[in-house]
Amino acid sequence: MSHPVRYLSLLLLLLFTQPFAMAEEKTLVDKIFAKHDRGETMTPEAVKEDIAQLSKLIPADDVIRTEKLQLLKCWNQAAATEQEVNSALAYTTHALANIPSSASPHYVTDLTLCHAWYLQLSGDIKGAMKGYDLSVKRAYEYEDLKLIADSRSLRGALHSYIGDFSSALEDLVTAQDLYESLNLTGWANFNLADVATSFRRYGDPQSAIRYYNKLKDVYLKNNNQDQAILVISDIGLALDELGEHQQAIEQFLISYRYYKEHQKTVAAAIAATNIAYSLIQLNRLDEAERYLAEAAAVITENEPTAYSFMKLFMGEIQFKRGHYAEALIELTEGEEAFRSLQNDRGLVQLLQLKSEVYAAMDNLPAAYGALQEFMVITKKVDGNSLDLQTTELKVKFDTSRITLENERLIENQTLKEQELALLEQNKSLQYIILLLTVCILVIVSLFAYKQVHRNRQLQAIALTDYLTQLPNRRHIYAQAAKYFQQALKQQHPFSVIIFDADHFKQINDNFGHEIGDRALITIANAGQALTGNKDHLGRIGGEEFLILLPNTDAQRAKELAHQLQNKITEFSHQELPHELTLTVSAGVATLGKESPDKDFASLLKRADKALYAAKHAGRNCVKLADGLDDKPDDDSDNACA
Ligand code: GH3
Ligand code: MG
Ligand code: MG
Repeated sequence: MSHPVRYLSLLLLLLFTQPFAMAEEKTLVDKIFAKHDRGETMTPEAVKEDIAQLSKLIPADDVIRTEKLQLLKCWNQAAATEQEVNSALAYTTHALANIPSSASPHYVTDLTLCHAWYLQLSGDIKGAMKGYDLSVKRAYEYEDLKLIADSRSLRGALHSYIGDFSSALEDLVTAQDLYESLNLTGWANFNLADVATSFRRYGDPQSAIRYYNKLKDVYLKNNNQDQAILVISDIGLALDELGEHQQAIEQFLISYRYYKEHQKTVAAAIAATNIAYSLIQLNRLDEAERYLAEAAAVITENEPTAYSFMKLFMGEIQFKRGHYAEALIELTEGEEAFRSLQNDRGLVQLLQLKSEVYAAMDNLPAAYGALQEFMVITKKVDGNSLDLQTTELKVKFDTSRITLENERLIENQTLKEQELALLEQNKSLQYIILLLTVCILVIVSLFAYKQVHRNRQLQAIALTDYLTQLPNRRHIYAQAAKYFQQALKQQHPFSVIIFDADHFKQINDNFGHEIGDRALITIANAGQALTGNKDHLGRIGGEEFLILLPNTDAQRAKELAHQLQNKITEFSHQELPHELTLTVSAGVATLGKESPDKDFASLLKRADKALYAAKHAGRNCVKLADGLDDKPDDDSDNACA
């Protein structure tokens, strides 16, 4: 029993622990993913560590999680310098060109979105917008709520950047609502910053400041200094727009000092540029110039966003000082940067100033040219703004429409998720049932096997003589009855030999019971050597045996009986003490054509009578039964003593 049980428990252990061990790894993996999904702010090192851990934990055949890991890698590439942005873009372009055919729609869409983001960072605004449009469309097709929010948030920020505030707010408000509904607080906060910035750019700095302050509080509460400082800079910009330049400077100075303290030179330079702008508005040109000089030492054309405004402000100082030629040089460089960035908002400011410079230089055609372009672009930007101003109410109305749409989307998704969860649950239930069924089958089969085995053993014991291991009386009689019926049916002869050890009592008396036992085993061995068939020889009494001889006539049976006598003599010489003489007497009876026997018992009775006659004739003797077939034998062997 111990062996099968051990194997069974091993099997169960394997079946049960394997999925559990895997499940444990999966929960850790999913926990890490969930953290990133929520948009928790993390250091780049922590993100790197997570990616390394996920790479180790996720097996290659786990397609869904491998895709999630790929996306995490895509989004978390370094993109602080132009070179980093280019290599991130190259990596993403390559990934997009090599999407496996088995990829999920989510993977394809999120990768498209990620690609568009790096396009935006590289300055390809048109390409980025195309990518965002495609992602939004696909995300809606697959009703992937987070992806809808992500793609609309990014697209909204880009709309806001290029001055299309109506589209920007529609996207950003949708994203905001979705993030909040999905409890993705981290992402909701990021998006909220874009909402606020869009209000600022649209010309509602007061609303913008309200949102910024809300955000600043969130970040400070979470001890997220970096983000809080970014928001403080945005508050500064909004204050400038309100005409509160002194207050703006105070905000910018907070950022400026923070970045200097943390050796973030580029960020400090941008803060310095912002301070310079506010100072220019207050006509504090010397101070402004000092801040800009500091910025110029750090900011090159490689940071076109900061560079363009820096040049614009430098141009403004030169203009205010009456240095028109110098102003034009600065403005030309700034203009190039604004155009490359397609930053219309910056460009109109610059064109207006340029026109004023030319006018001051009395170059009226150039002043007119700049003014004309200023008008065209202003119209475009103002068109967008106007559009929004007339639709501020519309946005508010849209917000409730969007909320309604989002609620419906979320409801749909919840239903789908419930269905999926149910399916998943059913799957594991089926798995458990299957497992239990297999276990039960294994156990039942084991018991059944053991039972059959035991029955066979019991049967063998019941039919075998313990001492000689020959078929016992019951068994050999049953065999004999079968042969008898067969012979009767097929009209074949069937003979039996009954034989009995002579003077066995004396053997026991003279040599002891043990030798007596060995003598019986010797008789059994000799008998088996003669018949060659285990089932044709049985022990039917203490020292009495029966041989079955199907298809054997009386004459042949008698010959075999004599051969048996010889075999016993031969075997006893080998196996028993020399002084011991072991002989048997035998009675032979045959079922022949004219036999009177109706059944085996009758045949046996005749053989027994012949045995009695053999004993009577002096033992160590063979006698044929007195039946019709058995002619009296004149053979000297048969006369015996
Ligand atoms: P006969 O030649 O007339 O057959 O004389 P016999 O002594 O062989 O016959 P009897 O029937 O008087 O005695 C049979 C003896 O066989 C009696 C018994 O002790 C012995 N015997 C029967 N079964 C066994 C056995 O399993 N082992 C041993 N050692 N002796 C046995
Ligand atoms: Mg005897
Ligand atoms: Mg006897």
